[in-house]
Amino acid sequence: MPRLSEVIAALDALWPPERAESWDAVGTVCGDPDTEVNRVLFAVDPVQEIADEALRIGADLIVTHHPLYLRGTTTVAAGHFKGRVVHTLIRNDIALHVAHTNADTADPGVSDALAAALDLRVTGPLVPDRDDPHGRRGLGRLCELDRPMTVREFAAHAAKSLPATAQGIRCAGDPDATVRTVAVSGGSGDSLFAQVRAAGVDAFLTADLRHHPVSEARGTAATPALFDAAHWATEWPWCEQAAAQLEAISDRAGWHLRVHVSTTVTDPWTSHFSSPGAPN
Ligand SMILES: [Zn+2]
Repeated sequence: MPRLSEVIAALDALWPPERAESWDAVGTVCGDPDTEVNRVLFAVDPVQEIADEALRIGADLIVTHHPLYLRGTTTVAAGHFKGRVVHTLIRNDIALHVAHTNADTADPGVSDALAAALDLRVTGPLVPDRDDPHGRRGLGRLCELDRPMTVREFAAHAAKSLPATAQGIRCAGDPDATVRTVAVSGGSGDSLFAQVRAAGVDAFLTADLRHHPVSEARGTAATPALFDAAHWATEWPWCEQAAAQLEAISDRAGWHLRVHVSTTVTDPWTSHFSSPGAPN
């Protein structure tokens, strides 16, 4: 069985921590580098349900996309929900490792997994990483559809293709417009409108779109149809992609790791009620 330090080295090779944004907090949150790893659980959020799930299935390592602590803290007391996660993990010898913006921009990255979940063909990054000579790394992905769909059809397709959440898909744009090209970005993507417009795509699918940025974007010529999915749903496909990458490494190294993907929905929104008579 590999030691935690060996597994972390393999994960760092997939998602080099130095490629994370300067504000980010990636890497190992807790865990003894010398302990052996047998079972790994991938999840989007390092919340208590995921720590409990790891305990239940006997995982020694959780790999999440979101950091547990993004900013500094002065306490890990178990009275606070993050501190309780830390206590659960350390008490049960479970390590936690985070790959966040370094996984977003990787090749393959979070938006490649999102594009694959939506059956889209990736043609390149939306915001290319200038340091990548192959032109594949970067934020978001530009994609093509195999066959054109209307905005209405693409919304239904996305709602069906992404993991089920209370939110489903919100949409801004003419429902009868044609979609042939799509930009996708897992997680919060409303800072990318300028790049999406410059790319000249028919649609943009991301999460956490807010009133004012969308309102302003809708008032600007050449803004594509906008699709807002649940943040968790846009990033969960990465867990399956990442788990398959670690499984391949484990096979090559003869580690015999058991790799799991959590299907626990940790999107914080739990219900959705459509207004009577609302358009769809
Ligand atoms: Zn995210």
